[in-house]
Amino acid sequence: MLSSKKKYIVNDNSGIKAQQIQFADQKQEFNKRPTKIGRRSLSRSISQSSTDSYSSAASYTDSSDDETSPRDKQQKNSKGSGDFCVKNIKQAEFGRREIEIAEQEMPALMALRKRAQGEKPLAGAKIVGCTHITAQTAVLMETLGALGAQCRWAACNIYSTLNEVAAALAESGFPVFAWKGESEDDFWWCIDRCVNVEGWQPNMILDDGGDLTHWIYKKYPNMFKKIKGIVEESVTGVHRLYQLSKAGKLCVPAMNVNDSVTKQKFDNLYCCRESILDGLKRTTDMMFGGKQVVVCGYGEVGKGCCAALKAMGSIVYVTEIDPICALQACMDGFRLVKLNEVIRQVDIVITCTGNKNVVTREHLDRMKNSCIVCNMGHSNTEIDVTYQSISQCDFLVLKFYGIFLAQLYFCLGKWLKQSMLSSPLRAALIELQHCQASLRTPELTWERVRSQVDHVIWPDGKRIVLLAEGRLLNLSCSTVPTFVLSITATTQALALIELYNAPEGRYKQDVYLLPKKMDEYVASLHLPTFDAHLTELTDEQAKYLGLNKNGPFKPNYYRY
Ligand code: NAD
Repeated sequence: MLSSKKKYIVNDNSGIKAQQIQFADQKQEFNKRPTKIGRRSLSRSISQSSTDSYSSAASYTDSSDDETSPRDKQQKNSKGSGDFCVKNIKQAEFGRREIEIAEQEMPALMALRKRAQGEKPLAGAKIVGCTHITAQTAVLMETLGALGAQCRWAACNIYSTLNEVAAALAESGFPVFAWKGESEDDFWWCIDRCVNVEGWQPNMILDDGGDLTHWIYKKYPNMFKKIKGIVEESVTGVHRLYQLSKAGKLCVPAMNVNDSVTKQKFDNLYCCRESILDGLKRTTDMMFGGKQVVVCGYGEVGKGCCAALKAMGSIVYVTEIDPICALQACMDGFRLVKLNEVIRQVDIVITCTGNKNVVTREHLDRMKNSCIVCNMGHSNTEIDVTYQSISQCDFLVLKFYGIFLAQLYFCLGKWLKQSMLSSPLRAALIELQHCQASLRTPELTWERVRSQVDHVIWPDGKRIVLLAEGRLLNLSCSTVPTFVLSITATTQALALIELYNAPEGRYKQDVYLLPKKMDEYVASLHLPTFDAHLTELTDEQAKYLGLNKNGPFKPNYYRY
């Protein structure tokens, strides 16, 4: 219940009075120990995002010899709380150091914390989060805490958690349920432990990939009565939200952070521009000068990768399906080709489309010896490494009809009437076909040559170098720049503040973009790092352009 409302005014150094936000004061009641739900099997169809690998810093404190599942350990932090589940609480000190390093490169969140010393725009907010658990996320969580929120957190990815950071968060009182190398069952168990707590109900969701939102929809739909909004970071999660909205099933307002200018034009572009070379270098030690590279997709991520490789002297080809992005690639000096046209000659293939089956087994068969293949898109669906998307339903149908019928269908497909088969079976058969065509077939040998580097060897001796098994290269094999994550994290924090404090009726049950002024505010908070001096409009100029001197400076349709 909201007890009172105040105005929270965000004001940056350059004098931009960027935002007036309504916020609620509320007494905090928190951290009752959750009911023990034990080891329920929370089986499910495989998460779209949870299997993308991530590890932003060397996890030097990992004691991989400790095989005990964190679920079987009884751990308490120094204050006696056991409301968390991490690999090893004793790693907290190392994690704290990682967090302190990240703080240096996250100026805007630190500025928000300072500003929140008097006012707490998230007082009463109970945020349940599901994101990569890294030092940068820890800075975000601790900022949300400083702004008045209570948080419970799980990882959005089974590989991405930095165990020492999770331990540091648990030590400082955050109920975190995450460790590196969770099983699929652990993954959902951790999410459930965040949500299913006696005496604590979330009223905000911060999601990356949509799995947490999906879980609450599936298991605890009544929770949405108290939830004021969802903030979603990823393309995948946003896509799911739009689907819910289209089907009339979205029951709270949602903020699409992915398409905020300060996320898309910074994280996607600059993060990838800086980390693509790092990921390739760490895994292969290769030299880029003169190498032929094909980049699939010339969106923000593709543009970043192409720019970095071109600057290193690589010969870069681009594939695109969209004539506008294709024309951009041409005007930027890249050769636009079909993948088939260059697949025999290139040294590196990089996918950045967010699509599926962009690099097929047929392409892989035609690549030259030692070709490096990797993916920078969100999901491990772009390279046909192995079939992944048979849903449980399709699988059951498939089992029901039998593999024999499936084989018969492939052999005699032309003669078999399609109407004999139900559409789920047809879909499953297509997936089975992919399964047969993928890299996980008996005639190919896999050799793990380094962490995250596999040689896949053809019977004639040809080998291709597959990085991170087709998962996100930069997030699996290199670090990503903290400063860029600071921009995204600040956008997330402001989206939470905005949704939490918005007066009744400002947002309906739909998906929204962050107001332009907030995007501008996030950017302005990061300018002092560069000692950048922003020009102010004169009254006369503001009048001439029809703008408010304090922004917003561009209409919503402006594309940057
Ligand atoms: P985007 O939509 O701007 O770009 C994707 C491009 O791929 C589009 O231009 C589209 O036309 C093109 N495309 C789609 N199918 C294609 C195909 N079969 N062949 C060739 N081109 C095709 O998206 P984006 O912002 O560039 O993001 C791309 C992916 O990268 C997403 O999955 C996103 O989640 C992910 N991402 C990764 C990182 C990272 O750090 N690695 C950061 C941000 C986003």
